[in-house]
Amino acid sequence: MNHEKMINISTKRGFLWPSFEIYSGVSGFTDYGPLGAILKNNIMQKWRKHYIAGEGFFEIESPTVTPEEVLKASGHFDNFTDPMTQCAGCGDVFRADHIIEETINQEVEGLTNLELDLIIKDHGVKCPNCGDKLSEIWNYNLMFKTTIGPAGNKLGFMRPETAQGIFITFKRLSRFFKNKLPFGVVQLGKAYRNEISPRQGVIRLREFTQAEAEIFVNPKNKTHPNFPKIADEKLVLNSAHTQIENKNPITITAQEALDHGIVANEILIYQIYLAKNFLKELGIPDDVLRFRQHLPNEMAHYAIDCWDVEVKTDRYGWVEIIGIADRGDYDLLAHSKHSNEDLNIFIPYSEPKLIAKTRLKLNMAKFGPSFKGDSPKVKNFLEKLDISEINEIKSAIKKEGKYIIEIESKTFEINSKHVNFEDIEEEVKGEKIVPHVIEPSFGIDRILYSVLLHSFHVSKNEDDKDYFKLANSIAPIQIGVFPLVNKEKLREKAIDITESLRQNGFLVEYDTSGTIGKRYARSDEIGVPIAITVDFDTLEDNTVTIRDRDTEKQRRVKIDNLKEEIISYFNDN
Ligand code: AMP
Repeated sequence: MNHEKMINISTKRGFLWPSFEIYSGVSGFTDYGPLGAILKNNIMQKWRKHYIAGEGFFEIESPTVTPEEVLKASGHFDNFTDPMTQCAGCGDVFRADHIIEETINQEVEGLTNLELDLIIKDHGVKCPNCGDKLSEIWNYNLMFKTTIGPAGNKLGFMRPETAQGIFITFKRLSRFFKNKLPFGVVQLGKAYRNEISPRQGVIRLREFTQAEAEIFVNPKNKTHPNFPKIADEKLVLNSAHTQIENKNPITITAQEALDHGIVANEILIYQIYLAKNFLKELGIPDDVLRFRQHLPNEMAHYAIDCWDVEVKTDRYGWVEIIGIADRGDYDLLAHSKHSNEDLNIFIPYSEPKLIAKTRLKLNMAKFGPSFKGDSPKVKNFLEKLDISEINEIKSAIKKEGKYIIEIESKTFEINSKHVNFEDIEEEVKGEKIVPHVIEPSFGIDRILYSVLLHSFHVSKNEDDKDYFKLANSIAPIQIGVFPLVNKEKLREKAIDITESLRQNGFLVEYDTSGTIGKRYARSDEIGVPIAITVDFDTLEDNTVTIRDRDTEKQRRVKIDNLKEEIISYFNDN
C-alpha cells in the first residue's frame, strides 16, 4: 500500500486526473482518464454480472434531476445535512464533526450540534488554516439546487443517491415483477453531494457514481434460498457490540452470525457475503476489508440493521466503500404518504381465509335531526372507516354510549341511534403489505480507488518494479503487442496480430516506441496482463512469445493458436 506513489502513477498514466485543471481545478471532482474510464466501466460491468446476471435483478435508469417533492418525501430536503462551522478570521468553512475528529482524535458521530459546539469550546478547537475562532454550528444541506423549466419557479435537486428513482417507480416495478416478492432492482449512475471542503481525492467527491440495489422483500420472510450454500462461510464482523466493548472483530460463520442475532436476517448476511465476493474478484483481498455494523447513534431511526464494508488505506484509515442496510418499509411508506398512492403489494394466501368482521350500518333516518346540513359529511366519514376504527367506535358506544368524531374542526356525537354493528364472516383471499427494502449501496469511485491502491505492487528491491497488479478480468488493456525492434516486416506482422485480436474483442495496445524492455516496463506499470512479442523467428515459423506480467516468464506460441491460448489464459487467471 502506498497512496502517494500509486496516485502519482495513476495520474501520469491516465487513470485519474484532477478536473477543470486548466482553470485551476475544483475540489470534489475527478476526471477518469483513458485507462481510468475503462477500468471504471469494467468494475461496473462486473457489478452488473454479479447483481443482474447472478442475482436475477433488473436495472432501471431514472433522471438525475429530481423535483423537490420527491426529496421532501424521502427526508433529504429536511435532513440531508452536515454540521458546518465558519472561521471568524479567514472565512473558510468546515465540517464541524471532521474538524473536531482531526483535532482531538475522538469520534463524534451522532452528536447534536449543541454537543459539538460544546466540544469546540471545551477543547479550544480552532481554524486549521489560520488558527482563529470557529462560529456556532449550523446545518448545511448537501444537495445541489437547480430549477426546472424557464420560469425558474419549480425547484429541483441533483439526486443525492440513485435509490429514490427506484422507490418512486415501485408501482410499475411491482407490476413488472407480476406482484411477486422478493424482487430486486438496481441502478448505476451519478449521485451528487455538495460536500463541505472535500480534500480526499476520489474518496469524497461532489459528483460520484453509485451502484445500488433495492431488494423488495416480504417483511414476514427475510430468508434467502441460497443462504444454506453460504451458511458455513466465515465472515469477520465488527459488530456494534464489539465496537462498544472495544473488542476485536469476531470471525464467525454466516449461520452463527444469524443464530447469535448479530446480523438481523439471512438476506442481509447474504448481501454481506456477495459484497465480499465481488470485491475479491476485483482483487481486493479479505485482509484489508472489514464489515462494521452501525452503532445505534449512527443508524437512521427507521433502519433495522446496517453494515458498512470498509477498506484499509494508508492515507485515510478505514474507509466505507459499501453500505448494506435493511431500511424496513420507511421509503415506500414515506412516498405513499406524500404522493397519496398505494405503494403496497397484494400477497394472496395459499387458501382464502374466513375472517370475523364487524360491519357498520348507518341509520340515515336519524342523521338529519342530529347533524342537519352536515349529514352527508358525517355519512362520508363513517363509510370510509377501516376495521380497527369501526371496532374502536363499537367499544366506545358500548362503554360510554357515544363516540365523538371531528370533521373539519367540528365535532359530532355518534351513538347507537345512528349506527348498528353487525358481526359477519368475510372470505379474504390475501393481504396488502408494504414490502421491506434491503439495500446494498456501492460507491464505485471508492471501490476503484481501493482496487488501484491494493493492486499496486510497490517494488521491494532493485530487480522488482512498481506496477498495478490488476485482476485480469478488469485490466483496462488486456494485451500489449510489440515488434521486438522497430523494423517494417516486424511492424506489419504485429499490426496484423493487433487487428485480429481487436476483431476478437480484446483490448489491445500496439507500441513500437523505445526498447522492448522499456515497453514491457510501461505495459506492466499500467497492469496489462500479457505482452505478445513479434521477433525475427516469427517471420520464419509464425510463432510469437507470450510474456506474463507477474512472473515475466515467456513462452512460444503459434499465431494460429493465439486466440485460443489467450482465451484459456484469461479463463484460468
Ligand atoms: P451512503 O448513501 O452515504 O451510504 O453512500 C453509499 C456509498 O456511496 C458509500 O459507501 C460510498 O462508497 C459512496 N459515497 C458516499 N458519499 C460519497 C462521496 N462524497 N464521494 C464518493 N463516494 C461516496
